Amino acid sequence: MKEKIYITRKLPAGIVKKLEGEFNIDMWDQEEEAIPREVLLEKVKDVQGLLCMLTETIDEEVMDAAPGLKVISNMAVGYNNIDVDAATNREIVVTNTPGVLTETTADLTFALMMATARRLVEASDYLRNGKWETWSPMQLTGMDIHGATLGIIGFGRIGQAVAKRAAGFGMNILYYNRSQKPDAERETGARFAELNDVLRESDFISILLPYSEEVHHLISAKELSLMKKTAVLINTARGGIVDEDALYDALKNETIWAAGLDVFEKEPIDPSHPLLTLPNVVTLPHIGSASIATRMKMAELAANNLHNFLVGSGEVKRVN
Ligand code: NAP
Repeated sequence: MKEKIYITRKLPAGIVKKLEGEFNIDMWDQEEEAIPREVLLEKVKDVQGLLCMLTETIDEEVMDAAPGLKVISNMAVGYNNIDVDAATNREIVVTNTPGVLTETTADLTFALMMATARRLVEASDYLRNGKWETWSPMQLTGMDIHGATLGIIGFGRIGQAVAKRAAGFGMNILYYNRSQKPDAERETGARFAELNDVLRESDFISILLPYSEEVHHLISAKELSLMKKTAVLINTARGGIVDEDALYDALKNETIWAAGLDVFEKEPIDPSHPLLTLPNVVTLPHIGSASIATRMKMAELAANNLHNFLVGSGEVKRVN
C-alpha cells in the first residue's frame, strides 16, 4: 500500500504530480486561505508524511493526532512553527528548505532597508494622494545607505548574503552572531562585535537570526535605547525577536528613526495594530522569499525532502 502524505496548502501541480506516482496524496486546495486547525487534525490521522507551511503550528496535539507520522517537511528555512523536541521524542524527522531562499531573502532585506531609509512607500503615497505640489530642499529626505554602518544580527546564510550586498554599497559592516565567521569576514569586510556595540554603532540594524525562546524579545526597550536616534531597524527574520510594544514606543518617541518589518509577532498582523499607524514604519506581509523562482524551488525541496526520506534514498535536509 502507498504511504499517505498530506499537503497543507495548494502547491503547483507539477510538484504534486511528482509525488503522486509514489504516494497517496491529499492536499488542502486553497492558496490564499490557511487550513483550519480542526481540518488539519482530522487530515493527519492516517498519514506518514506531512508537508506544511509556516502558517501551521505543528505541536504535540497534531503529532498525537497522527500516530503514523514519520516526517514533517516544512516549506521554509525557519521551523519555529514546529515543536522539534516533541517530534524528536516521537522519532519524527523534521525537514526544512535552507539555502534555496538565501539570495532572494537577502534581496528583499536590502530592498526593505533602502525603502525604509529613503521613505519610498511614503513618497509614493505622497504623490498618489496629490500632495506633490512643488520640489523643496528637505522634502521627503531620508538616510543614506552608502557609507553608513550596517549591523547584522545573525550572520548565517542570509546575513552573509546581505553583507555581500552591503559591501557593494560601500557600507561599513558589523555583525553579532554566536560564532565568529572568519571566511565571511574576509569576503565582506564585516567585523564581529558584541551585541550592544552593534546596537550602539550601527546606522542600520538587520535582524537575521532564527527564532527560538532564547532570542524572544532580544530587541526590547533596553536594546532600542542603545541605538542611535537616527537608526533604522530592519526585521526580516521572525516577529518574536522584537518586542513590538517597545518598538512602537521607540518609533513614536523618535528614540530610533524608522523600522522596516517583513515579520510580526502575530501573523497576519491585525490591520488596527498601533505599528501600522506610524509613518516611519514600512511593513510587508512576510514576503522575504517571495520570488516566483524561489518559491518553486522551496516547494520542490520540501517535496524532495519528504519523498527522499520516505523512500530512503537521496538527500534530506534534516533539522533533527
Ligand atoms: P542560518 O544560516 O541558520 O543562520 C542563522 C545564524 O544565526 C547562524 O549563523 C547562527 O549561528 C546564528 N544564531 C542562531 N541562534 C543564535 C543565537 N541565539 N545568538 C546568536 N546567533 C545565533 O539561517 P538563514 O538561512 O540565514 O535564515 C535565518 C532566519 O531568517 C531563518 O531562521 C528564518 O526565520 C528567517 N527567514 C525569514 C524569511 C522571510 O520570509 N522573511 C525568509 C527566510 C528566512 P551559528 O552559525 O553559530 O550556528
